[in-house]
Amino acid sequence: MALVVGLTGGIGSGKSFVARLFAACGVSVIDADYIAHTLTAKDGAALDAIIACFGASYLIAPGILDRAKLRQRVFSDAGALADLEAITHPLIRDALAKQTLSVAAAPYVIHMIPLLVESGQWRKRVDRVLVVDCPPETQIVRVMRRSQLSRDDVLAIMARQVTRAARLAVADDVIDNYGELEMTVDDQVRVLHQRYLYLAGSPAVGP
Ligand code: ADP
Repeated sequence: MALVVGLTGGIGSGKSFVARLFAACGVSVIDADYIAHTLTAKDGAALDAIIACFGASYLIAPGILDRAKLRQRVFSDAGALADLEAITHPLIRDALAKQTLSVAAAPYVIHMIPLLVESGQWRKRVDRVLVVDCPPETQIVRVMRRSQLSRDDVLAIMARQVTRAARLAVADDVIDNYGELEMTVDDQVRVLHQRYLYLAGSPAVGP
């Protein structure tokens, strides 16, 4: 079984950016958010259970979930969020495990799990936690630049995520993604790639 590195970080910290750099080293990156999206896409595997729990008013059309309505509901109702997670998390876990098995020959794989620290159950399912870190102000600027969200929108999302300190407290490894760095993100990824190969018992490769 491959070593599993859990890649996480706050919104806009640069998780996807870092994931692409690992992928460029030939590492398989499995994205929990993408799986979650697939599960709730048209006729997705979680759809029937979600409608059984929340009701048919959460469908836009047969087989199509009203994502905006559901997002609104779970944003303001912790019980509803717990219900939704009780449906989706086991399915996400199964899909992550299945996809990890399919790359069993790889020395290590990366599970990109944005809410790894928030949802405590994920922590014990990875061998190491890799946190992508930057100051909150940098997160806000990046997210506003890449989306239509206002500063207040981004702050509201960040308020629902754990603090920078809480995330760093559980990190085994950290990538500093501040923008003004001694070591570029690319270099940090290369160093970690070698470390993970070593930890996985695989010979180091490349420059
Ligand atoms: P996350 O996946 O953590 O939400 P992203 O990887 O999408 O964050 O990064 C947020 C935005 O900032 C993206 O537009 C991304 O291209 C940009 N970005 C992140 N890190 C860097 C970096 N080191 N250099 C340049 N752009 C970056």
